[in-house]
Formats: sequence, C-alpha cells, structure tokens
Amino acid sequence: MLNIALFGPPGAGKGTQSQYLIKKYNLFYISTGDLLRKEIKEKTNLGKEAESIIASGGLVPDEIIVQIIEKTITDNPDANGFLFDGFPRTYIQAYILSGLMIKLNTSLSCLISLNVPEEESVKRLLHRGKTSGRSDDNEEVIRTRLKEYYDKTLPVMQFYKDRGIFTEADGTQSIEVVQEQISSIIDEELSKRLFNIVVFGYPGSGRGSQGKALAEKYGLEFVATGGMLEQEISKQTSIGKEVQRIYDSGELVPDEIVVKLIEQRLENSKNVKGFIFKGFPRTLVQSYILDGMLKKHGTGIAKIVEFEVPTLELIKRLDKRSKTDRGMPYDSSTAKIVTRLQEHEQRTIPVIKKYQQIHGTEKIDGTGSFEEVFNRLSFAVEHGIKAML
Ligand code: AMP
Repeated sequence: MLNIALFGPPGAGKGTQSQYLIKKYNLFYISTGDLLRKEIKEKTNLGKEAESIIASGGLVPDEIIVQIIEKTITDNPDANGFLFDGFPRTYIQAYILSGLMIKLNTSLSCLISLNVPEEESVKRLLHRGKTSGRSDDNEEVIRTRLKEYYDKTLPVMQFYKDRGIFTEADGTQSIEVVQEQISSIIDEELSKRLFNIVVFGYPGSGRGSQGKALAEKYGLEFVATGGMLEQEISKQTSIGKEVQRIYDSGELVPDEIVVKLIEQRLENSKNVKGFIFKGFPRTLVQSYILDGMLKKHGTGIAKIVEFEVPTLELIKRLDKRSKTDRGMPYDSSTAKIVTRLQEHEQRTIPVIKKYQQIHGTEKIDGTGSFEEVFNRLSFAVEHGIKAML
C-alpha cells in the first residue's frame, strides 16, 4: 500500500494537491476537515461537538478524530492506499495513525510537508474566504488556526524525521511545480519498493516452473535455493565444494550457507522490482531468517502463494520427471520422493501456517495444463504487482 500524509499550515495547498495525487496514484482521500464538516452538516453528535471548536479555529479533540478516521479506514479495506490531508495534526494523532496502519498490516510511506511562510498562508486563506463559505476562513480565526499549527502540529514533524519518512516540498511555487515536486518524492519512494513473492507447494506441484515463468513475465528475480546450490557446485566455487562434500556425506546443507547465498543475491541485485522465492523458507527457522533479511533491505513479503496438487498426482509427476533429463538426483526412487513429501509436510507446512496468520496466503489450484495454472497464478498476483510497480 502507498500511504501518504500531506503536512503543512492551513492554506499550504494540501487540498488542491490532494485532488491531483489521488487520481495519479489511485489513493483513497481522507481529509479530517472534510469529514468533520460532513458530520456538522448532518448534525450528528460528533458534528455538534466539533462545530464551535472549528469555528473558533481550535483543534478538535483526538478522541473525535480517532473515531472518524478509524471508521473511514475500516470501511475501505481494499483501498490501494490512503492520502491523509490534515491528519495527523498532533503528536498523539501520529501514534494513532501508526496504530491504524499496523491494524491494516501496512505503514505510512512518507509524510510530505508543504512549506509556506505564515504571511503567505494568511493571504491565501483570506482570498479563499471570499468564496469558500467556511466559518473559519476569516482573519481572526485564521490567526488562531496558525497558532494551533505552530504550537501543536509542527512538533509532529519530529515524529516522522525520527522515522526517516519526513520529506519537504516548496509550497510557495505554482500548483504545477509543487505537483512535480511531490510526484518525484512519491515516485522515488515507489522505486525503492520491491514486490516479493514466496511460492510454496509440495515437490512436484509446479512452484519452480510456474515461479520462474512469473518472474520472467513481471521482470522479477527468481531465487530458487536448490538451483543456486547446484550452480555453486557446477561452478566449483568454494561454497560449491563445501556443499558437494555435505551432499556426499548425506548431511543437510546448513542454513548458514543458504543464507550467505541469498544475502549475496539480495546485495547484488540492483534495480530489481522484486524477488520470487522458491524452496526457501523451508523451515520456521528459515522463515525468521527471510523476514530478517528482507527487513534489513527495507522490504518484506508482499504475496504468498501455495500450489495445491493431490498427492497421487505429485508422485506421478515426480516419477515421470525422474525419467527425463529434468530429473533431480533426489527424485530417483519412490522412497526418496516420499521422504521429500514428508519433509515438506513436517517442516514447511508449519511455515505456511505461520504466514497464513500474518500475511494471508493464496491457494492456487495446481492441476491442469501449465497455461491454466499460470493464468490462475498471474491473476492472483497481478493486482498487487500493478499497484506496486
Ligand atoms: P482543515 O479543513 O484541514 O483546514 O480543518 C478545519 C478544522 O477542522 C481545523 O481548524 C480543526 O478545527 C478541525 N480539524 C481538522 N482535522 C483535524 C485534526 N486532525 N485534529 C484536530 N482538529 C482537526
């Protein structure tokens, strides 16, 4: 999700810029001022409480704000992202916003401050007052609103500076120039984002071939740990030699080696749009490792899919594959195939269950032709990828 807050004194141009941004980035607009004015118009209890405060230029209590904001956010869970105008206006509201974002499993992407000197704000608001019909667009109230801004709202900046998501634009420029400045801040934020997918499924479920095709379709990096280990062996690298020795002795490849390879891959992949992980994480330990590695790179898992194929079909597929040149050494006997299926059930299913609770996972029917399955997979991820890229 792309969640932006526009910050700045009254009259900085937040409302005007918002109208452009919500269209450009397909965001859901939340203006606490508009929401409050609606409550007043509808003569609700909240509106009655807020009316005289707004007319005098003071700030409405946080308790009222939290109610209107929470309702609007929870009524729109499918939004592509939110654009906040006039919120957060107090330090407490900054914490409220964090809490609401956590509830949606997301966070504020950035706070953009439109900088305008005090006298310019007054001039603009007086001009707007001629046509806005707003009770608070007159000089006396404007001065109170600005005082409230400098006393209570300005300290909110520090909250976001501390979190590294505070950005600024020069609000005195023309509308078009400010639009450009804000767009480039948002575009930069978007370009840093990665769309990371984890594909799960029993061996033989098609996660490898499907994941690879998906990576090609969307220009994502396909990270298949099994294949990476094979490559190290064939290139005779120092890691490859060590892995070969481990394979020969029948031991399991330790997590340290796989972690090293994935870290190298994450470090070396510049300008990528995201990663598709296959074969990792396989265990709960590895799932914590992946979460940590992605966090270190300022990113996380965006989508988890799980291919579903009946067990007998899996065995048939793996047996058939073992007789072709795509056959893997570990598919070479029924006993080995059964061990791998068991391994998945015992060690990887708990990982899927963990992710199911945290992120939600999407099951893909893995039966049918390659194209049929690929269409289902593309459909499942498309919306998310397009929203992100
Ligand atoms: P605005 O339309 O954003 O200029 O807001 C108009 C008035 O609504 C403000 O002067 C406040 O009285 C009230 N208001 C709007 N948003 C908030 C908020 N987040 N916290 C407290 N009061 C608010």
